[in-house]
Amino acid sequence: MRAAILAEGKLVIKDVPKPSPGHEEALVKIITAGVCHSDVHLIKGDWFAPSFPIPMGHEGIGTVEELGPEAEKSIQKGDRVILGLGGTGGGYWCGACEYCLSGRPRLCKQSKGIVGTYAEYISLWAKSLVKLPDEVSNSEVSLACGGLTAYSAIKKLIKLDVLPGKPIAIIGAAGGLGHYAIQVAKTFGYKVVGVDVGKEKIEFVKSMGADYAVDASKAAEFIKEKLDGVYASIVFSPKIAGFELGLKLMKRGGVFVGVGIPATSEGTISITPLEMLRRDALIMMSAVGTVEEMRELVQLAADGKVKTHVSRVASLSEISQVLEDLDKEKYTGRAIIDMAK
Ligand SMILES: [Zn+2]
Ligand SMILES: [Zn+2]
Repeated sequence: MRAAILAEGKLVIKDVPKPSPGHEEALVKIITAGVCHSDVHLIKGDWFAPSFPIPMGHEGIGTVEELGPEAEKSIQKGDRVILGLGGTGGGYWCGACEYCLSGRPRLCKQSKGIVGTYAEYISLWAKSLVKLPDEVSNSEVSLACGGLTAYSAIKKLIKLDVLPGKPIAIIGAAGGLGHYAIQVAKTFGYKVVGVDVGKEKIEFVKSMGADYAVDASKAAEFIKEKLDGVYASIVFSPKIAGFELGLKLMKRGGVFVGVGIPATSEGTISITPLEMLRRDALIMMSAVGTVEEMRELVQLAADGKVKTHVSRVASLSEISQVLEDLDKEKYTGRAIIDMAK
């Protein structure tokens, strides 16, 4: 089968053996794969030096074609599924440690990520798969990581007592994750200030349903005058400047949720302990989400509350170009790979 493999910093399409499902695994024939920004970071070595070769891609929708022993307890042959989690944690978790039992399987010592959806087939732990209802089309594939990550970040606000109706800022609102975050936050009832850079992106943020769409250069002034600060900032921008803006926009006692991960070469955010005391802010990061959250999000998509803005549909052989364009921010929303193309 054909698969996109990262070898020595370059993504190449190779012919590799078709996997066969092991114990509790399901063989999924990929229909669509979503293109995620973390693939760009991986290729560029922005976060760490990877050990090659690596199969790439962690968002997928496909059909279950074969089952390994005992996988039938979780999923059936012929089911159309979305890969329950993108990035670390979606491949396996033990289910019995303190983290798994408290709903944070990503922190489980045995957790494994999902990689290899830029391929014709992938074999996965059946318990991580979420069955899709007919209402959710194959072009909603980016719900698997981009959508889930945005959903889980916004949902944390409810747990942290940032109540619906309150104004929150979404920084990097026109991107693959940000555009989901606007829709989820509006569904939850927040007053959304979408922040991004440039006229075209601001227009897009408005079209996604944000109450206010503001250019990053004017955001601090606008929010201070209009809202006297936001109750929460959720930062999807993978830039230190985005993190600093997020901190600046918050009211005292606000909640800061970082999601984008700037390259380590970008340095650090700086805030003095005295400033932290004055602001009394809660500062945290959020990554992906749980399979249960994936199910909740799939339901929102089925109800028409959340929709993927697909701006590009490409073939597997075009993957390198798509990732290069994503790195240069040449498109808004999300790109997907159609395996039949
Ligand atoms: Zn991702
Ligand atoms: Zn565990």
